[in-house]
Amino acid sequence: MAIKIGLEIHCRLNTKSKLFCSCSTNSQEKEPNKETCPICLGLPGYKPLLNKSAVEYLIKMGLAFNCNISEESYFSRKTYFYPDMSKNFQITQYEIPIATNGNIHINDNEIRIKRIHLEEDPARIVYANGSISTTKYVLIDYNRAGAPLAELVTEPDIKSPKEARLLLEKISSVLDYLGIYDPSKEASIRVDANISSDGERVEIKNITGFENVEKALSYEEIRQKGMSRMNKKIERETRHFDETTKMTTAMRKKEYEEDYGYIFDPDLPLINIDKNWVEKIKSSMPELPEKRAQRMATQYSIDQYDANVIVYTGRDFADFFESCIKKLNKPKEISKWMINYLLKSLNWRSERISNSKVTVDRFIEFIELIDNNTITERFGKELIKEFVDSGDSPKGLVGKISTQTKPLNEVINNIIIENPKAFDEFKLGKKEALQFLIGKVLNATGKRSDPKEIVNILNSMLEK
Ligand SMILES: [Zn+2]
Repeated sequence: MAIKIGLEIHCRLNTKSKLFCSCSTNSQEKEPNKETCPICLGLPGYKPLLNKSAVEYLIKMGLAFNCNISEESYFSRKTYFYPDMSKNFQITQYEIPIATNGNIHINDNEIRIKRIHLEEDPARIVYANGSISTTKYVLIDYNRAGAPLAELVTEPDIKSPKEARLLLEKISSVLDYLGIYDPSKEASIRVDANISSDGERVEIKNITGFENVEKALSYEEIRQKGMSRMNKKIERETRHFDETTKMTTAMRKKEYEEDYGYIFDPDLPLINIDKNWVEKIKSSMPELPEKRAQRMATQYSIDQYDANVIVYTGRDFADFFESCIKKLNKPKEISKWMINYLLKSLNWRSERISNSKVTVDRFIEFIELIDNNTITERFGKELIKEFVDSGDSPKGLVGKISTQTKPLNEVINNIIIENPKAFDEFKLGKKEALQFLIGKVLNATGKRSDPKEIVNILNSMLEK
C-alpha cells in the first residue's frame, strides 16, 4: 500500500518590515508585544498597506520553482476565531495566488507545486506551563503578527517521509540563495503535512524542524498501516505532533477549506504584476544551488559530492569557497579542509561561516601553512579549532601553541614522577599500566601527541 504525502510549507520571508505595516520583522530579541501597531494588532478602523518587497520576494520564489506568475492577484480574508488573530480573520490569498503550477525534483521524482501565496503570520501563542493539551492558559505575543509568510502547497506527490525532508532541505537552500529568508532564525519554516495510505487524508499541523516533519510522518505512516491491518477506518482529522514523545495525537475533525468563509478583502487593492517587472526580477536572480553545484564541480575539477556539500551548506559557505579560490588556486585542498574540518568546527559552535570570526584571508594563510609544510596535517587539524574559536592569524597561533607545548620527553618524565606505581607495573609488562600512562600523556598534551611516539619514549626510558 503506497502512501501519499503533500505539504503546506510556511516560509517566513525576511523583509525589513511586516506585510501590511511598517513594524520591524526583527523582533526576536524584543520584549513581547513591543513591535506592534494598530494595523498588526488588528484594531478596528486601521487599514493595511501592502509591502511591495514581499510581493517581489514571492515572485522570486515562484520563478525559482518554475511557477507561472499571475498577472493579477488579490487578498482575501480567511475567517476564523482563535486568539492568535485578534481581528478574527487572516489576510491571505485564496482564489488567485501569485504563483501557481511549479515543480521541484527530488532525485527522479517530480513534486508538483500547486501554488505559492502570500499571507500574514498570526501571533505567537505560548502555552504556559505545559503543552497544547495540558496547559491551563496561554499567553500571546503579537510581535510576530503580520510578518510576511510565503505558503507553498504541493500536490500529494511525495512518496516517503524521507523524501518530505529532502524536499524541505532543498526549498530552504533555494530560499537561502535567493536571500529572501533567514535559515538561522527559529521557525523560519513551519509545515502542515497531510498523509494518506488508502483511507481519508490526515493532516498534522504546525511542525517545526525538518527532522520533526520526517518523524511525524513516519509515526503517522506506521499508525495508519496498523489501523488498516486491523480493518479500522482512518478518519479525516487534524492531528498534533508532540516533539517530546515523537507521536501524533488527534486534535479535531478536519474542517474543509470552504468552512473558513473566504471573502475578498476590500481594504487592499488588486495587485498588478507587470511582465516587465517579472523580467526584471528574473534577471536579478542569483545562480541557484543545483546549477551552482554542477558548475563548481566542472570548473574546479572537484567531486560532485564535495561541490554539493559546499553549495548546500549555504550560500555564504559557497561564496567563501569561491572567494578563497580567487586568492589561492588550490580548489581540492581548500574544499577538503573546508568540508572535513572547517565545517565541523563551525557546526560544533553552531555558527555559519558568515557570522563566524573566520575570514577568507586568514583561512588562505592557514591553507598555505599546510601547503608549504610549515605545519603537519595532524597539527593543522588541531590548529583549525583554535583558529575558528579566535579568528586570530594562523601563523600567530602556530607560535603560541608551540611555545605552550613542552617537549614530549619532559611531559612523560613528569607523569612518571607523579605515577611511580603505574610506571613500575609498566616495567613488569602490564598492558593496563601502559594504557593508563598513555591516557595521562594524551590528556596533558591536549590529545596533540601521537600514542606511538609516547610508547617509543616510554620504552626508551625502560632502558635507562
Ligand atoms: Zn504593525
